[in-house]
Amino acid sequence: MPTYNLSLMRYHVWSIGCQMNTADARRMSDELQEYGGERCERIEDADVVVLYSCVVREAAQNKVHNELEQIRQIKRRRPSMRVALAGCMVEDDREILAKRYGFVDRFLSPKLDLPLPHQVADFLDLDERYRLDPDDGERITGVSQPVTISQGCNRRCTYCIIPFRRGDERSRRPDVIRREVEHLVARGTKEVVLLGQIVDRYGRDIGNTLGELCADISEVDGLERIRFLTSYPLDFDRPLMEAVASLPKVCEDVNLPIQAGDDQMLRRMARGYGVESYERLIEEMRSVIPYLGLSTDIIVGFCGETEGQFDNTLALLERARFDIVHVAMYSPRPGTASARLWEDDVPTEEKKRRIHEVERVQARIAGEINAGLVGTRQEMLVEGRRKGKWYGRTRHNKLLFFESAGELGGRVVNVDVTRGTSWSLQGSLCEEDV
Ligand code: SAH
Repeated sequence: MPTYNLSLMRYHVWSIGCQMNTADARRMSDELQEYGGERCERIEDADVVVLYSCVVREAAQNKVHNELEQIRQIKRRRPSMRVALAGCMVEDDREILAKRYGFVDRFLSPKLDLPLPHQVADFLDLDERYRLDPDDGERITGVSQPVTISQGCNRRCTYCIIPFRRGDERSRRPDVIRREVEHLVARGTKEVVLLGQIVDRYGRDIGNTLGELCADISEVDGLERIRFLTSYPLDFDRPLMEAVASLPKVCEDVNLPIQAGDDQMLRRMARGYGVESYERLIEEMRSVIPYLGLSTDIIVGFCGETEGQFDNTLALLERARFDIVHVAMYSPRPGTASARLWEDDVPTEEKKRRIHEVERVQARIAGEINAGLVGTRQEMLVEGRRKGKWYGRTRHNKLLFFESAGELGGRVVNVDVTRGTSWSLQGSLCEEDV
């Protein structure tokens, strides 16, 4: 059994991909910190390395492989280094991975429900009794922090690998979540982003709802804002809309992936809704929630997508006028229905053209929406500094920059918008907040 000088254990936690990985990586860092570890920037300096991998897109997966190859070299020189691979790569391919990366000490499966402290203890071959008092943990600053509230997914969208990697849907208990939020707020967090694959289904397995959870978390003193993502159209019900509209801490910000603006494509993706019902839903949301910030996800070049079908997606963007669109080229993922059943027949060049077309149309729309905000006063949470300016997000998730000599990090301030482009807003700090 390896021994550790606890005060000298240096750890490096790396993550890529979705915010759930960011949240898991943060909890892992906190846990290692509580074991007396010390964070280090460079893998070369670390005694313990944990990688949170992603397989949703091929580019992300390649980056994980690159990272692992680099670690292989380092570990050759320093065999005492301990390496854990976590995240979605660690599932069905486990045996192949173990063969290819024999130097990895532990594979931490996202399906594993073993509480994190036990996972860490297991990984470090430590006993629970070595744990230090949580309050001794060094702060990892984060004004806005992701918090995972449910794991897994019961849907089977034909392109998506997540259900195979993260297992079935299960919700974390509200009291556990609330304690995590209280813990974060005590360390300076002002905003939490509640995460789930289908976050608006939260609680159905434990007799709770996302609206109720938001009301519960709203009671945490010192917490300023609550956001949640990703929502699924068929699960976004009226009570949730009303909760967003009525709970002051919940931001008017919804991420509602449509994936395509064509009914045939949506059927092929097995999304379970059509374009018309999606548009009815966002109309209802916008009527219940005044000035809603709405974002969506789009996949271009899905199997068999014709030019006409793609044009339907562009037309939808014109009608729906989203604030933000996340667009990706379809890539077949192992084990998914689409990879088994249909040819990936849209050439890469054409997929690129479609991506650029979506970006071009959306940049214009976002530019129009943002220019329309000039002259308004927006509440924003100051999240950091960039190039001599403070930045943060409005309630509707618009990035907003302003200049001030004040020490404003983590504060909620009001800013008068003076300029709006496709990507962000500029403004000046409101007199009372100076
Ligand atoms: N649970 C969320 C999505 C999680 S994955 C939902 O209900 O949609 C995040 C985004 O990655 C998806 O919205 C989709 O647009 C994209 N994505 C997922 N699988 C993909 C694939 N095989 N190829 C390209 N993009 C994909």
